[in-house]
Amino acid sequence: MHGQSLCAQADSLRPEDAQVFFEVGDEVRFRTPDGGTLTGTVEKLNPKRARVRCGASVWTVPYTGLQHVCASTATDRKPRATRLNAVAAQARDLMDRHGLDEWTLRFNTARKKLGECRAQQKLILLSRSHAVNDPPAQVTDTILHEIAHALAGPSARHGPAWKAIAHQLGATPKSCAPEGREARDRREAAKAKFRAGDAVSFITRGALHTGTIVRMNPKRAKVKCGDVAWSVPYPKLNAATRVDRGPPKS
Ligand SMILES: [Zn+2]
Repeated sequence: MHGQSLCAQADSLRPEDAQVFFEVGDEVRFRTPDGGTLTGTVEKLNPKRARVRCGASVWTVPYTGLQHVCASTATDRKPRATRLNAVAAQARDLMDRHGLDEWTLRFNTARKKLGECRAQQKLILLSRSHAVNDPPAQVTDTILHEIAHALAGPSARHGPAWKAIAHQLGATPKSCAPEGREARDRREAAKAKFRAGDAVSFITRGALHTGTIVRMNPKRAKVKCGDVAWSVPYPKLNAATRVDRGPPKS
């Protein structure tokens, strides 16, 4: 089960980090307490469990207990786990190097706050979606930003003492940016151009895909390409004029 293999690799990762494998709209399979197997659709990604709808019933299932029905979706999500492992290892290494070896690193489900430093708990939190989806240079910057908070102490906030340390570490000495207003505006503007049923194309990892929007989730569209469903951020979508070139490659 892929969720479990994820946490075995780095000690900063916990079972709930297997959330990276799933998106709202995914078709998943899981075992029920009576030993049966159910198939359903992920409706919501809660911090530790997914809410899965199976016909009329709703289940909440730990991420490590879920498997994708669609093998290509599972394959598609694997790089996220690899990336999360790499970020965990990098953050751990940077924390140790800067004398924070007693501090703990955890990922959370925050979307707007990229990172957080909790001095009392000696804890640095990183947004899991930021770690997995944003460019490595930005993620490194967030890690260094939080390390600077840890070294400067909570009373320094984003003042001169923090700025000096952030600068020394090579972090951009700016306050922790939540999801930029710009990014949100861009997403909402892109989303307004589409509705369910639209034919769209998008490029993911160098390949062009064509399909139909089957659901408009808050941040991403679920796009069906043949029998594969993709979850695509709105800014990546283009309106497709249907060209009949045989079945789409997916
Ligand atoms: Zn900050």
